Amino acid sequence: MPSRLPMREKLLEARDRRTALLATNFYNAETLRGILEAAAELRQPVILQLTRSSIDYLGLGLALAMGRAAIEQYGVEGWIHLDHATSLDLVERCLEAGFDSVMIDASEADFAQNVALTRKAVELARKTGANVEAELGFVAKLGQEADSGGMTDPDEAARFVHETGVDSLAVAIGTAHGFYKATPCLDLERLAAIQARTGVPLVLHGGSGVDETAIRAAVARGICKVNVATETKDAFVRGVKREIQATTDIDLRNIFPPAIRDVKDLIKQKLGMFMDGSGRV
Ligand SMILES: [Zn+2]
Repeated sequence: MPSRLPMREKLLEARDRRTALLATNFYNAETLRGILEAAAELRQPVILQLTRSSIDYLGLGLALAMGRAAIEQYGVEGWIHLDHATSLDLVERCLEAGFDSVMIDASEADFAQNVALTRKAVELARKTGANVEAELGFVAKLGQEADSGGMTDPDEAARFVHETGVDSLAVAIGTAHGFYKATPCLDLERLAAIQARTGVPLVLHGGSGVDETAIRAAVARGICKVNVATETKDAFVRGVKREIQATTDIDLRNIFPPAIRDVKDLIKQKLGMFMDGSGRV
């Protein structure tokens, strides 16, 4: 097994080396396998993310146990992260269960409320040593208009980090969740200013469909964690649909593997974005 730093330390290491970790969501055993097969083959670390809806779907115990068992089985350096929790209750449950990292997302509340909720999440996480990610600014959720809110303000970000003690910060610099209708244009100057003012590892949400050049430019300016969820889900479901249409076979152990390979190919391509010539992240 590769040595596994706590996620907070791993993100700080990524920040110091001007590189980033891939964080991707899993939804079932098949997407999990595709992700881990890719990470194992390329010998790259990966952050496995669960949202509230995936936890509701699988159950917290099963979701966490699956993630942990997969990390172990594939011998990958990996962590389990709670993605987009909007309540402290879920944060607390996941910390108690042993998550490596949690995101408290109060980005739609006002600044003071976001600070208050994030500060509480940080307090809870300090008992377990877990990493805490928060979000400041507006990254459109699925179904929301991408331009209906503001980007992260560097001065406000500095105040936010100072007042909350949060470990990592998701920033709004022009990305949105889901697929893009038009190529997103990242505000790299703003990103560099946020990095300079806060110093913490920064997180890019809405990484699906952002081209590699833009991702690399963002990583060079302080992004240390890149989230990809939509593309992972999409690769798997498309693969399953294609296989089901092509066969009368009802054996799911024959139908799923090509879709698992599609996820694996996608994740290999994403992980490749963070590898230098030596193959290191
Ligand atoms: Zn997100």
